[in-house]
Amino acid sequence: MDVNGRVIPDGAVAIDGQKIVAVGSVDEIRASYEAAESINVRGQVILPGLINTHTHAPMVLYRGLADDLALMDWLTKYIFPVEKSTVSPDFVRVGTRLAALEMIESGTTTFVDMYYFEDDIADVTREAGLRAVLGQSVIKFPVADAPTPEAALARAEAFISKWKTDALITPAVAPHSAYTLEPATLTAARELANRHDVPLLIHLAETRDEMKIVQDARRASPTRFLDSLGIWAGRSIAAHAVYLDDADMEVLAKAGVGVAHNPESNMKLASGVAAVPKWLTSGMRTGLGTDGAASNNDLDMFEAMRFAALLHKSATGDPEVLPARQVLELATRRGADAIGQGDRIGSLEPGKQADLITVAMDGARETPMFNPISHLVYVTRGDDVRTTIVGGRVLMRDRQVLSLKPVEVLRDARAMAERVRVAVPPPSGPEAKGK
Ligand SMILES: [Zn+2]
Repeated sequence: MDVNGRVIPDGAVAIDGQKIVAVGSVDEIRASYEAAESINVRGQVILPGLINTHTHAPMVLYRGLADDLALMDWLTKYIFPVEKSTVSPDFVRVGTRLAALEMIESGTTTFVDMYYFEDDIADVTREAGLRAVLGQSVIKFPVADAPTPEAALARAEAFISKWKTDALITPAVAPHSAYTLEPATLTAARELANRHDVPLLIHLAETRDEMKIVQDARRASPTRFLDSLGIWAGRSIAAHAVYLDDADMEVLAKAGVGVAHNPESNMKLASGVAAVPKWLTSGMRTGLGTDGAASNNDLDMFEAMRFAALLHKSATGDPEVLPARQVLELATRRGADAIGQGDRIGSLEPGKQADLITVAMDGARETPMFNPISHLVYVTRGDDVRTTIVGGRVLMRDRQVLSLKPVEVLRDARAMAERVRVAVPPPSGPEAKGK
């Protein structure tokens, strides 16, 4: 995943401390380096760790809670009410631990998160050893960790001040969207992010309903309404962007906004199809995401890659769009660039952080192998990941997760799910209507 897209048969990576010091053939690396510890991954592919540019980690605890609904029904009838009665520091800790376990097991080494009690999410992320951009949410109605948007902004500022020098965690402020906040709160969030030189994370142009709400209230598309407020003037990561016209794409490309494409969430909520092939030709900084597990329903980035590749071929009627190599770039090098960390992660190159994974390629499903990149996008599943390393720390070795206690993580998650079960509103979706 370097700029030349080099593939090294019989390759090896040398790591010193947190960084990659050399990449080459096994013979070259053996001739130049003496390793204190070495991991033999014969029959596997070594690649950069995957970068999930949009998720809500603790929402794994709502996995499969309310399926087969449109976004606005799903959000207002299920997710917002259930969150109101279940989200707590303890809840996000248990949920983030479960999400971290799933991410380590499926090869994600960096994730971008928007949620509540982000300080607790940061603690758990650090323990688990993952890299992350964590955005403290700001929304206009009272939520579990803030009664008002002003209180949420104050919480975000305290969070950012506490974490901004951390090696793994990049703190951020996450105003929910153009339709759930007043202009004054949106601009205050931008000022806060710029004061600390951290990113602003936001949902953007996700559904037709959002387009109508913003168009009616602001007489502009969400992208241009936010532009008119100066929201893109600083480090920004936007999620979804399903509804963009050419002028919107130009605004986002020019401002260097990182945009997260979430094919599975967009398909499941029938939000629409983002024009990702066009994003790429218009120069938008593009990454790939899973969105929260409640609308996916897992955090497997290999699945996200496969859906992205297939969705856009199907939607455009052109099988040549989003070829495997480009999709793998979205989950690695381009994703790193989209979140403003292209100089540190996203490829296996000397000087970069040692964030890498190894993937089994010797099973029935991977045989024969003519092209590893094709397999990584069209065949591999998260379960095929054997090793996960972040900043030189081995988080999983031979599928043994070392930075978390999986049995305890699962036990605590099941116990917490009982609280969710009690809080679920009675069904009123298609199932209840007998559709
Ligand atoms: Zn989201």
